Amino acid sequence: MVEALDREEVFYSSTRDSGSRVTASQAILKGLADDGGLYVPDHIPALKTSMAALADKSYQETAYEVMRLFLTDFTEEELKGCIERAYDDKFDTREIVPVREAEGAYYLELFHGSTIAFKDMALSILPHLMITSARKNHVENEIVILTATSGDTGKAALAGFAGVAGTKIIVFYPKNGVSPIQEKQMVTQKGDNTFVVGIHGNFDDAQSGVKAIFNDQELAAQMAQAGLQFSSANSINIGRLVPQVVYYVYAYAKLLKAGRIRDGEKINVVVPTGNFGNILAAFYAKNMGVPIAKLICASNENKVLYDFFETGRYDRNREFKLTSSPSMDILVSSNLERLIYRIAGNDAAKNAELMAALASGGSYEITPQMKAQLQDFYGGYADEKETAARIREMYEHTGYVLDTHTAVASAVYGKYVKDTRDETVTVIASTASPFKFTRYVMNAIGGQYDAMSDFELVDELSRIGGVAVPRAIEEIRTAPVLHDNECDKTQMKAIVKRFLGLGA
Ligand SMILES: *Cc1c(COP(=O)(O)O)cnc(C)c1O
Repeated sequence: MVEALDREEVFYSSTRDSGSRVTASQAILKGLADDGGLYVPDHIPALKTSMAALADKSYQETAYEVMRLFLTDFTEEELKGCIERAYDDKFDTREIVPVREAEGAYYLELFHGSTIAFKDMALSILPHLMITSARKNHVENEIVILTATSGDTGKAALAGFAGVAGTKIIVFYPKNGVSPIQEKQMVTQKGDNTFVVGIHGNFDDAQSGVKAIFNDQELAAQMAQAGLQFSSANSINIGRLVPQVVYYVYAYAKLLKAGRIRDGEKINVVVPTGNFGNILAAFYAKNMGVPIAKLICASNENKVLYDFFETGRYDRNREFKLTSSPSMDILVSSNLERLIYRIAGNDAAKNAELMAALASGGSYEITPQMKAQLQDFYGGYADEKETAARIREMYEHTGYVLDTHTAVASAVYGKYVKDTRDETVTVIASTASPFKFTRYVMNAIGGQYDAMSDFELVDELSRIGGVAVPRAIEEIRTAPVLHDNECDKTQMKAIVKRFLGLGA
């Protein structure tokens, strides 16, 4: 076992109770800790392979080099099996995540998976990590995935878990808070083990409802009796976070290979942010040793995070805005808790106190000492007009079509450069295909599109952008609606019980 010797074991504990200690596979199975906290690694492992060596590796090989350092109770065979099943021809390019240069920045295209959004990067592998984790821990219960989605997670999770033996998946989405194509993608999902519900409320309502169901002890007891147990596919699961670290390592290695940077040269990373999972993965990559200078956190008009980085005060008490980048329409960024815990000096009591304040009053303020540790982060935001202008300008200058989320990041990057004159090589996380948000994108580019149907617009986007319609969109063009459930935000538990045959 040479393997085991060259890596130090990593255990996970709750951000609200440092005394808890579980293995990676246990943390993946549980999703959320019993006390409502998020699992965090007891240390961030350092990369063991040099960037020069990583430069020649495939995505799958890079994934193995990174993930094995976090998931230390997985054997080589188990982890490689998960990686092979996840990153295969579900992706429409062998590179898995191509890097595309446009206007001097590098767009890391995270949208080549089965649902053409970045959630595929983690959700293609999570079901395999979860089933492996169940096997390792002798879990016989059927695993019920319960997820709240602001649009993209839902479909990506459904696609990942559909038909996977030993699992069921229930997805709640805000009925009027996702794009028509996102909704169509979800309600046409096949698979007897899939359930999709539109709730009358926004994403935060869906997320709070799911959290309450997870913490419902009475329901947990009924489930156990029926041979069922919940787990989470939301971005709070450590099995989502770890696979996302991979592509930042990969991006750096590929820029190095292409001669765009010198070995060791620092890069900046811009991430269009909602739940703070993707940017936290970049932060973990930095802590593993990837030379990253600034982590630029881009928000849309729901700019809670921008305000937080400016002032040190997190305050969700504000108007919730529906924007053209719905996956970022979030007022409570769950994964931020992992960063708060860390800048509190891994102090679970302090973190728990702040999270309690957030739950009761909707806000908290970090100490000046904590704020001083946020210097690597830069918060920015772009409003609706700036986002649309960015899509139009990028198209006019280069022919490259950005989706709305990526456009927020691109616009924030533009403001950052103007502000700071920082010329560091920059990677922008490109989180969705423009085909997922066709109408917004086409309206931003300009033209008379009101009379066109969504699918006519898809063809028009394909024509003007010179890119083929992705398979994920072709498939739903004619697919029948298989899910038409709706419920009030107060009815979520009842509908879960009905789906699981536990009586209502
Ligand atoms: C989920 C999502 C985001 C936000 O990512 P977080 O990890 O929640 O910050 C950004 N863009 C798209 C397209 C997404 O689906």
